[in-house]
Amino acid sequence: MNDPLADHASRWSHRFAELGPDFHTELRPTPLPAPYWVGTSLNLARELGLDPAWLQSDEALHTFTGNRLLPGMRPLASVYSGHQFGHWAGQLGDGRAILLGELATPLGPREVQLKGAGLTPYSRMGDGRAVLRSSIREFLCSEAMHALGIPTSRALCVTGSDAPVRREEIETAAVVTRTAPSFIRFGHFEHFSHSGQHAQLRQLADFVIDHFYPDCRERAGNPYARLLEAVSERTAHTVAQWQAVGFCHGVMNTDNMSILGLTIDYGPFQFMDAFNPAHICNHTDSGGRYAYHRQPNIAYWNLFCLGQALLPLMEDQQQALDALEPFKTVFPTALQQRMGAKLGLTEAQPGDETLTEQFMQLMAKDAVDFTIAWRRLSHVVAGFATPDAADAEARRALEPVRDLFLQRDALDAWAQTWRSRLQSQPGFDALATRARMLRTNPQVVLRNHLGEIAIQRAREGDFSRLQRLQAALEQPFDALPGCDDLADFPPEWAAQIEISCSS
Ligand code: AMP
Ligand code: MG
Repeated sequence: MNDPLADHASRWSHRFAELGPDFHTELRPTPLPAPYWVGTSLNLARELGLDPAWLQSDEALHTFTGNRLLPGMRPLASVYSGHQFGHWAGQLGDGRAILLGELATPLGPREVQLKGAGLTPYSRMGDGRAVLRSSIREFLCSEAMHALGIPTSRALCVTGSDAPVRREEIETAAVVTRTAPSFIRFGHFEHFSHSGQHAQLRQLADFVIDHFYPDCRERAGNPYARLLEAVSERTAHTVAQWQAVGFCHGVMNTDNMSILGLTIDYGPFQFMDAFNPAHICNHTDSGGRYAYHRQPNIAYWNLFCLGQALLPLMEDQQQALDALEPFKTVFPTALQQRMGAKLGLTEAQPGDETLTEQFMQLMAKDAVDFTIAWRRLSHVVAGFATPDAADAEARRALEPVRDLFLQRDALDAWAQTWRSRLQSQPGFDALATRARMLRTNPQVVLRNHLGEIAIQRAREGDFSRLQRLQAALEQPFDALPGCDDLADFPPEWAAQIEISCSS
């Protein structure tokens, strides 16, 4: 069989490993008995240049469970620290993730990491394992976010084993194989800064600049301040995209913040059902630190921590503060750009923020389903075909959206303003606008209850629901035949689902 990983040991490199032993511990994953396939992303396999047939082989199964190494792999766990729920948590590190190395792919080098592959020196009180339910959630959400165009780590596959894992109850083990250009976190910088290892801090910052932000050295000024600025901008764009799809990350600790601005470490995340700006998706987060509407401020707080960590590499504090400043304009601009697109607007105009905010307020007041409201709004535009179309036609088109609301007069008034705003756009074309909106407002997102159903079936050994959901999430803007249920309102029991940090 064509064996792309084993045959081409030369495809593996280890730039992170070469940083040296202050940054990681080399160790092998701990095997799991009798692994089985839970899910694979053939899309990602193709993008990585892996043979999909090989990906179904026993060799691949054992490799991606951590039971065997292929030539060229050099596994390690990295050390980092971080702020958790607003408090300095000290040393953390890859407690259950093991980096196999960096694979040369058509997309460029990609780190390949096994999550749940056994104990490491950084496991602290943990067991080094991940359970099936949280591994399925991470797998599905990584691929769903990618399909939505949101920067994220990717997930190649999930394997399971009947090996017992103790959480609130006994569950079974699973391993997610995930990829990213780098899994370096804000917490890696905090680690070397807080422990006074400033030479290593500089080495890490240089590594990140050289490999991922080469512009920072080419532009004038302190390169580490430029790095902070660039990371702030990427983070602002990513969080703006979260807000625009109603995504709550759930654990925005600094050790879960990617230096590349990727969405990483999927835990108790949630795509909101009923819109509530103060929604808290993480059952462990009783204070709501990571509630939906706080995510932008928390991102800034985390960037501030990164800035503090980078201070030893800058001339003064002001340099760091100046580098963080653009976040305050980039984030709102990026958000409004996203929200404007969701409303079908092609260019920004004064008053657009108000238009967006008013619709969000109406949705919040009536706890309207976030995804369904935006999707239905996209279809309404077809009723705005001509500027002088009868009001009755526009009204008819609005009906499916009106049905979602209690305050219908307020909605009608808002819709009038929205319609005028749309029709005042030069060359307004209702059908083209609808088509654009349908590619901006997804039909299918990974709602908690959809994940729960797929997980329940997978526990019974039936992966068909998972595969069907995955297929729909891979094309979130298209109506897949026979998948209407995935785009429907959540059942009542969905509101009772509690997802915590336990994973
Ligand atoms: P998380 O909240 O999943 O981002 O994890 C925070 C820290 O705890 C990271 O350092 C993880 O590696 C570690 N961790 C979480 N769960 C486990 C586990 N079951 N075993 C070992 N380490 C863990
Ligand atoms: Mg984490």
